[in-house]
Amino acid sequence: MINFSDEFSKNILNWFARCQRNLPWRKDVSDYSSFISEFMLQQTQVKTVIPYYNRFIEKLPNWKSLAFASEKTVLKLWEGLGYYRRVKNLKKSAEIIVQHYNGKLPDQFDEIHKLPGVGHYTAGALLSIVYKKPYPAVDGNVIRVFSRIFEIKNPAKSTSLTQEVWKRASEMLPPYDPGNFNQALMELGALICIPKNPRCLVCPVQKHCQSFHHGTQSLFPSTTVKKKLVPTYMISVLLKQSNRILLRKISNQASWFQSLWEFPTYTDKNFKRAIAKAEKDLDVQIDRNELLLLKFYITKHKVTLKLFNADFHNPVIFKKDYRWIPMKSLAQYPLAKAQNQIRDFILHTFQKIQKKILKRKK
Ligand code: SF4
Repeated sequence: MINFSDEFSKNILNWFARCQRNLPWRKDVSDYSSFISEFMLQQTQVKTVIPYYNRFIEKLPNWKSLAFASEKTVLKLWEGLGYYRRVKNLKKSAEIIVQHYNGKLPDQFDEIHKLPGVGHYTAGALLSIVYKKPYPAVDGNVIRVFSRIFEIKNPAKSTSLTQEVWKRASEMLPPYDPGNFNQALMELGALICIPKNPRCLVCPVQKHCQSFHHGTQSLFPSTTVKKKLVPTYMISVLLKQSNRILLRKISNQASWFQSLWEFPTYTDKNFKRAIAKAEKDLDVQIDRNELLLLKFYITKHKVTLKLFNADFHNPVIFKKDYRWIPMKSLAQYPLAKAQNQIRDFILHTFQKIQKKILKRKK
């Protein structure tokens, strides 16, 4: 007699074979392509990752090219994808793999897990997809699917729910096709068992789903109270010297954007304090008329950022981590998303001024 796990695996694997999305990292699977895609997909949606992945693989097609590339090159390829700590980890991992593993991803859990930025999920995903080893890979999609199928009552985002799903995923894993089974579960969560209004009528595991039978899909995973957003105030300072603009490399290890570049930026409890901090640190006089206002979110922070022009007293103080960049070279420096918007604003404004000057000359 066919048991629950066997029938479940058969149904979901058949569905995956028919309905999986055509994604670039699913063609010609290799240890390198899977590693890059898994890193890019951490906290980031598939449709956002695709163009980044294609560009990255074209420029840096193997472990060696990544290990020997400059950090600036890798950051530039990553620019706009967010969570920039991944870049450092990715590059460091490539260096370790080239130096210690002869340019091949190790195939033991402990060795993969030790690589920088590789957590439990990524190690399981790589081992099952690349080496077809029977390790589960539980991401947010799998947690939602399993919590509905088994009506697991533990609160959403709790450690106890994650542990329960890992346990069940290990028990259900078919030894003959663990990589596709893991991917099929994630794909089911992305396409069918979606957060709101799951598409149960076309679900390949509907028969096995307790939530479907009891009509309780909307109750799982049990919702938690939403965390409050923290209002955060930032100012960026625009400093010009003839045709050059001052950029600063972010060296603070605790920063979300470590190793990227920025127009000198300061964060504080309010704008007044941030301006005072900037004036003291840079020895500048900030013009209080803001040039640009941006609003965006970073993790639990609701950020309001203002750009101000400033006059400086002493250019000599801009030494370590600071660089005067010719306007035409600004685009070569990797910046976070909001800083990119500032750069576009500056270049646009500068072009308008240039046009006016040219017109006057004519
Ligand atoms: S039947 Fe519905 S709730 Fe159950 S796994 Fe499928 S899509 Fe999700």
